[in-house]
Amino acid sequence: MSKEATVEFASSSHPVPVQSVPLLDVKRGNQPLLDPIMQTLREICESGWFIGGPHCQNLEALVAENCDTELAVGCASGSDALLLALMALDIKRGDEVIVPSFTFFASVSAITRLGATPVFVDIDPRTFNMNPALLPDLITESTRAIMPVHLFGRCADMMAINEIARQHDLRVIEDAAQSIGASYEGRRACSMGDVGCLSFYPTKNLGGFGDAGMVATNNGELAARIRRLANHGMEPRYYHSEVGINSRLDAMQAAILGIKMAQLQRYSVMRQRNANTYRKLLVARGLASYLCVPEDDAHCDHVWNQFTIRIPDGRRDEIRQQLADRGIGSEIYYPVPMHQQECFARLGYHTGSLPETERAAGEVLSLPIFPELTTAEIQYVVDGLTEALSAGQDYSRRLAS
Ligand SMILES: *Cc1c(COP(=O)(O)O)cnc(C)c1O
Repeated sequence: MSKEATVEFASSSHPVPVQSVPLLDVKRGNQPLLDPIMQTLREICESGWFIGGPHCQNLEALVAENCDTELAVGCASGSDALLLALMALDIKRGDEVIVPSFTFFASVSAITRLGATPVFVDIDPRTFNMNPALLPDLITESTRAIMPVHLFGRCADMMAINEIARQHDLRVIEDAAQSIGASYEGRRACSMGDVGCLSFYPTKNLGGFGDAGMVATNNGELAARIRRLANHGMEPRYYHSEVGINSRLDAMQAAILGIKMAQLQRYSVMRQRNANTYRKLLVARGLASYLCVPEDDAHCDHVWNQFTIRIPDGRRDEIRQQLADRGIGSEIYYPVPMHQQECFARLGYHTGSLPETERAAGEVLSLPIFPELTTAEIQYVVDGLTEALSAGQDYSRRLAS
């Protein structure tokens, strides 16, 4: 069969029925961009300029524009972006930083690495983001900052958080690793706090071909200090006024991300479309209320890094296994809240300390939502979910009779 005939077959009106759906497939997004990417990488290899340089400056300008901040500083990862932001804000031993426990580890380790103390705040069960109503009770003499995490692509309640921060003279560090391009009341993630931190880990909404990160801010002094700290605190060369780290953005990642940046808006729209398709199908099946399907938020332009449902009644793990049996990928973000991690035991939290966080950890399930997911695949996931849930109901009815 000729190559053309194969292509013809793949796009014919008789597609192969869906038999599995991966949680993630970064290849689908990257494949169409490989030609320009490889060409640029070749130019970088030939130039020999691998760290910093014009591709890094270009990406910083594009990200600052997208985030609606004046400045952005590239670094080696989202984890380092958080660490650098805290270092530049002089967070140190004895200081307290309020952060959700329902987040990725890096939000919290950035705080403990500096000897500061994370103070965990429970979440709003509807949004999975920090509940600002709980903040006033957590503020002490030692509180220096609040770190809202814009989880799963949805901005935290920044109006309330910023107001509390203003009243208590606290800095605000936005962990926007999952939320580039999201907005809250028309304002972009990273532009609302003192500083915003981004990750370009391959599965984030703007993903590189390796690790990379960025800090975005409107504060020129802070940006300059972050840039210096990311290069051993060195300025000028071989003169160190303070001890920094080595966390530089490399030119290859910056070039790849610069090319992908032109697609970011389209990726977000595709993720939003996928979320809408899920919601429509789940509502049509009558599952929307039982599964606590994530809703659109009038205040927030959600960019859906994850589509996370809740499966109550202790059935989450069983349903997840049934999805896996049908070839459907899913993941639990996050099964163990930070206050229950072994390495943070010394902080003195216990089971019951953060009830909504702990309940979420037992109920959440993230379904495939990547941009290139097809309607047929979403249908397959919803079919699988419906069958898995009703199989359980039959089972419980059988037990009852
Ligand atoms: C991914 C992520 C990070 C860390 O980013 P890396 O680039 O993987 O270091 C930090 N916070 C949150 C919420 C994340 O999802």
